[in-house]
Amino acid sequence: PSTVRRSGPARAGIPGIERIVAVASGKGGVGKSTTAVNFALGLVAAGLKVGLLDADVYGPSIPRLLGLRDKPRAAGARTIRPLEAYGLKAMSMGLMVDEDTPMIWRGPMVMSALTQMLREVEWGELDMLVVDMPPGTGDAQLTMAQQVPLAGAVIVSTPQDLALIDARKGLAMFQKVDVPVLGIVENMSYFVAPDTGKRYDIFGHGGAKAEAARLGVPFLGEVPIEMAIRESSDAGRPVVASDPEGPHAAVYRAIADKV
Ligand code: ADP
Repeated sequence: PSTVRRSGPARAGIPGIERIVAVASGKGGVGKSTTAVNFALGLVAAGLKVGLLDADVYGPSIPRLLGLRDKPRAAGARTIRPLEAYGLKAMSMGLMVDEDTPMIWRGPMVMSALTQMLREVEWGELDMLVVDMPPGTGDAQLTMAQQVPLAGAVIVSTPQDLALIDARKGLAMFQKVDVPVLGIVENMSYFVAPDTGKRYDIFGHGGAKAEAARLGVPFLGEVPIEMAIRESSDAGRPVVASDPEGPHAAVYRAIADKV
């Protein structure tokens, strides 16, 4: 629609940052943040300089996922230094507030916090800045997609029909603001029982791949539902960092290679 601004100063690139890529999902709880962190660490493993910006201001989970507890420190008069974990630079609203403090901000405040995290954090030279978007396809997400100079977006979905319908809305949202969708990741794709090795397609399987083909966007990979992924995340040591030679790290690295 004509109300959507496609360019202008708000969209100007960030000096020193090569590409900004959003990780998004149509709804919460599909593993967007888990994917964003492990994807970013997969890029680090490939030798890239990477930053991770937690734009999920209402439910920031990146500090917990990366085991970050320190508050970021001022760098200059107007700038903040990002924190670092596992070779990844990271910044999150969750680092600025107490984990138990509820966020009751209004839209414009969220936008100004986001702009600050983009422009007043000393990211330095980055090959890629990964942005963990808030879930959903509402106005807040649309505004962000418009304001942040995104090179592209990665959509995370579970195989279920319902989640896929939401993923489709996410795709449409990015297309509306001319941000290319770099592909779809199917999370919680299947489960392999550790005792028997038998595979179960808990939420069905392959829906995201079929959807990607139908929509003409790349399919980036399938991540199984796996205790180790959840446990390592809870412990603040994401699987790509804690078990870099393991099978799950390989899945995320392959996704990173395609983006
Ligand atoms: P979102 O960002 O979409 O809300 P999260 O990344 O916070 O979702 O994931 C929701 C929950 O599911 C977390 O407890 C996370 O550890 C778990 N989870 C995500 N992906 C997987 C997976 N592939 N296997 C097992 N648990 C997962």
